[in-house]
Amino acid sequence: MELLKQKVKNEGIVLAKGVLKVDSFLNHQMDPFLMREIGREFKSLFAGDKITKVLTIESSGIAPGIMTALELEVPLIFARKQKSLTLTEDIYVEKVYSFTKRETNEITVSKKFIEPGERVLIVDDFLANGEAAFGLARIVEQAGATVAGIGIVIEKSFQPGRELLLKAGYRVESLVRIASLEDEKMAFVGEE
Ligand code: 5GP
Repeated sequence: MELLKQKVKNEGIVLAKGVLKVDSFLNHQMDPFLMREIGREFKSLFAGDKITKVLTIESSGIAPGIMTALELEVPLIFARKQKSLTLTEDIYVEKVYSFTKRETNEITVSKKFIEPGERVLIVDDFLANGEAAFGLARIVEQAGATVAGIGIVIEKSFQPGRELLLKAGYRVESLVRIASLEDEKMAFVGEE
């Protein structure tokens, strides 16, 4: 997705240890026009897949997730990172190790929002080791629903997430793929 690639190129800041900061359009300030294009792009990729819900994880997955859900005309669910007082009913819980925060979070989704037989599209802002995507996929499968695909805004292809998800049989569609972030320089897959 060219528009997104240009944004990442122009505004992304490479931090130590392979972390990319994109807080001017995705992780803090959000660009609604870019989010709308992201939603349209995921719609065109998954239009024929009979998606019934989009599932993401708070907080940075919510903007691309809601625009994708809007385009596909289905609800968005976001997994919460902590059990809140209002989630006292039956919940699915999975442990997810956070690559950027270096800590394990419990993510939760209320059981009432995913029905058996649903076809769920997982959307997230970044793919690194695949921890978040696998945690969300386990929740979908616990519910007796199907993971119809995994849509990623920015994939860091030098980390193993994509390979592991493909090996597990999931369809992965990433809008931008970063081949390397070494020496504070960004290289994109296909342009190295
Ligand atoms: P994974 O679970 O695939 O290891 O990592 C993906 C999650 O970690 C995403 O939900 C995202 O919030 C965060 N993440 C991983 N790498 C980066 C990065 O380079 N930059 C930012 N901003 N977030 C990242």
